[in-house]
Amino acid sequence: MTVKGLRPEVLSMETYVPGKTVEEVRRELGLQKIVKLGSNENPYAPFPASLEAMRSEVGNANRYPDIAFEEIKELLAGIQGVGPENIAISHGAEGMLQAMGKCFIGPGDEVLLPSATYGLYKEISRLMGARIIEIPMDDRRSIDMEGLRGAVSGRTRLIWLCNPNNPTGTVFDPGSLGSILDIIPDCAWVVLDEAYAEFAPPEDLPDRSRLILEGKNLISVRTFSKAYGLAGARLGYGIAREEVITAMDTVSEPFNANRLGIAAGVAVLTKDREACERATLLILSERERVSRQLGMMGLEVVPSRANFIFFETPRLADELAGDLLRRGVIVRPCGGWGYERSIRVTVGTEEENNFFLEALEETLKTSDTAGSGPMARGEDTNGSIR
Ligand code: PMP
Repeated sequence: MTVKGLRPEVLSMETYVPGKTVEEVRRELGLQKIVKLGSNENPYAPFPASLEAMRSEVGNANRYPDIAFEEIKELLAGIQGVGPENIAISHGAEGMLQAMGKCFIGPGDEVLLPSATYGLYKEISRLMGARIIEIPMDDRRSIDMEGLRGAVSGRTRLIWLCNPNNPTGTVFDPGSLGSILDIIPDCAWVVLDEAYAEFAPPEDLPDRSRLILEGKNLISVRTFSKAYGLAGARLGYGIAREEVITAMDTVSEPFNANRLGIAAGVAVLTKDREACERATLLILSERERVSRQLGMMGLEVVPSRANFIFFETPRLADELAGDLLRRGVIVRPCGGWGYERSIRVTVGTEEENNFFLEALEETLKTSDTAGSGPMARGEDTNGSIR
């Protein structure tokens, strides 16, 4: 039955289909061993000091957090080369992205986004009633920055950019961001989602802090969910000019991050730095090894700058993901992004990756390549566009 009174914008949104959890797969398929490589989480975390910090903060859970977030803002400002007044804290990067929508998009406003990118940008834009213009990806499956630049008009209000891009793992030429910032109208903003930045060589990424301090209409969105290994603690942040930070804080709920997340975030930035760097290095070397192995299996792999790998398969991705799921491996099929035969797989531990590679090899060996596997086309495995 339809709900009367819902805003049409709400009806225009697509329901979020989350990636399957280990518990769900165990319940449905009764498998002993399950490897979750569908949500780009960090397999080596939580790191010891952040775990300890959360344990000791639990006893304060009856108290609201201190909303000045002074300590963590100082730490992040030091790392990013900006002032604490340039940092806003949020419930995950998602909280920051939602705040961007509330701040900058009104009904009928024009919003630009790449055709294959993190799904939340489109949903937030729809909810706010935006007119969405999608820019097709280029043939290397990267964001087409020239195409985006060409689509900017006097009506443009927001441009969503993801770098490295989810799901393709590509980065754009760092100089191309400036060329977009230089031509957008005064009332248009670029939201640069850098959830996976810690996995990319710094020289491959634009100098967000310099551009922000120069006064460009740019907001960088970051998260503790990936390299810092705190996806379940829900902590993210934004970097922007001080007046934008004030606006973001105004539209957000007052207690915009929880005590456990903040305690863990401070610990990971101070005491867990070595453990975190070691884990990132392991992820990077496994990313290269798994990419090579996939290549040796004859599959086309897009060079990744993130903690996941996007590759082409000879089969329909939904079906292949279904077969992998039955073997205990959760991956993300990319049909929802228009890549019918592509899979995104998170880089796990060496053991998890080997389990995935073996399952994939068996699946490809035993299946025909006509795209008519046992799983009916369109049946959902975990086909969300996140
Ligand atoms: N941005 C991108 C590009 C992501 O892939 C994700 C998570 N999958 C997020 C933002 C949301 O991250 P968080 O857990 O910090 O809300």
